[in-house]
Amino acid sequence: MLITHAKIITWEKPNRILDNHGIFIEDGIIKEIAESAELVKHHPDDSIIDATGQYILPGNICAHTHFYGAFARGMAVPPPAPREFPEILNKLWWPLDKALTHEDIRYSTLVCLLDAIRHGTTYLIDHHASPNAIDGSLDVIEAAVDQAGVRAVLCYEVSDRDGLEKTDRGIQENIRFIEKKKADSNSVSKVAATFGLHASLTLSDATLYKCKEQYPDGGFHIHAAEGNADQVDSLAKAGTRVVNRLMARGILGPQSILAHCVQVDEREIELLAKSKTWVSHQPRSNMNNGVGTAPVEKMLKAGIPVCLGNDGFSNAMWEEWKAAYLVQKAWHQDPRQMSAMDVSQMAIHNNAALAGTFFKNALFGQISPGYAADLIFVDYHPFTPLTVDNLPWHIVFGFHESMVTATMVGGKFLMKDRQLFTLDEAEVYARARELASHVWKRYNGNLNINH
Ligand SMILES: [Zn+2]
Repeated sequence: MLITHAKIITWEKPNRILDNHGIFIEDGIIKEIAESAELVKHHPDDSIIDATGQYILPGNICAHTHFYGAFARGMAVPPPAPREFPEILNKLWWPLDKALTHEDIRYSTLVCLLDAIRHGTTYLIDHHASPNAIDGSLDVIEAAVDQAGVRAVLCYEVSDRDGLEKTDRGIQENIRFIEKKKADSNSVSKVAATFGLHASLTLSDATLYKCKEQYPDGGFHIHAAEGNADQVDSLAKAGTRVVNRLMARGILGPQSILAHCVQVDEREIELLAKSKTWVSHQPRSNMNNGVGTAPVEKMLKAGIPVCLGNDGFSNAMWEEWKAAYLVQKAWHQDPRQMSAMDVSQMAIHNNAALAGTFFKNALFGQISPGYAADLIFVDYHPFTPLTVDNLPWHIVFGFHESMVTATMVGGKFLMKDRQLFTLDEAEVYARARELASHVWKRYNGNLNINH
């Protein structure tokens, strides 16, 4: 397939913006980039898609999300409003995730993936919880991801919060799914697996050791130091801070993702850098939960590969760019904080590097020969010059998700001219609304049990 007449933003290092260029795609991989006319000459018999002068960029990647949380949208949480983060978990997320059945999980995933395709996100790293529907839950999500046609990395968040039987089931769900994905690692599957852990504050040492024993050579995906409560709990439980605790239990390393790291000190930053652990930053979630602002620039300067996720907020990653850019300035009362270039380092380069660790022989996040043909078309008409030097600022101040007109994964259009090909939006939303109303009822029932 040939795509012609595009303005290609390659996001190579160094980045290039190529006017009136085309991309030749074969077997889901970008094979050649050249001027449109030249490319047509090289491949006279291939079908041509005319990008009509739109920008083409690599698809956005989300380093940390929760498909299971979609039905929280618009749900009434009875007063009084939670005063702090552990109360938010107790009053919102835990009674909600306990209300989910397999079918709820399927539709909760599908609505997130619709949102992702519409808004140009092609690869998502999910962190799942459904304590009353643990077994097989990752297969349900996998099937929805396969149907949608995006890429995802899945895990189940192990936690001791509902007793040891559910802890063990969570461990087994991770191991079962990891083994399953290992078995089909030579296939063209767009789904990979990792091992999920909820957070230091809901995990005993015994469980952490057990998880490490079950998955000695793999990486983990865990919330860490999201708020002060995680540190207070770790100090009380283990006499040490969260990152030190996770380090000592073998949870850190170049295959592990620590989501948030809002409340980390200098020593913890050093440990994260030394262990080459990935950190994922979710500024919209941090603001919403009132947990503070992550020391992102300090972490980047220390050499930590900080990535960008959405923690279950909309799958429109440029919204997260904007929050990441703005929040540091407000928090520090210093407009010099957080250059848009640093945001692009996280959202583009670090996310792409992280994405590459989960799939053998696959490259993501650049428009370059050999890379996966995961692309988006953006109908953006800047009224000021756009160059590689000011592109991150154009994204923060000018790009909107509604400008995404086409989304492609592995050389296949999931949306073109804003028409979706893999999912029936009206059907998915109608069924989701039906299911969500039942989930809300069960949520209210669970609240009454909890309190
Ligand atoms: Zn999260």
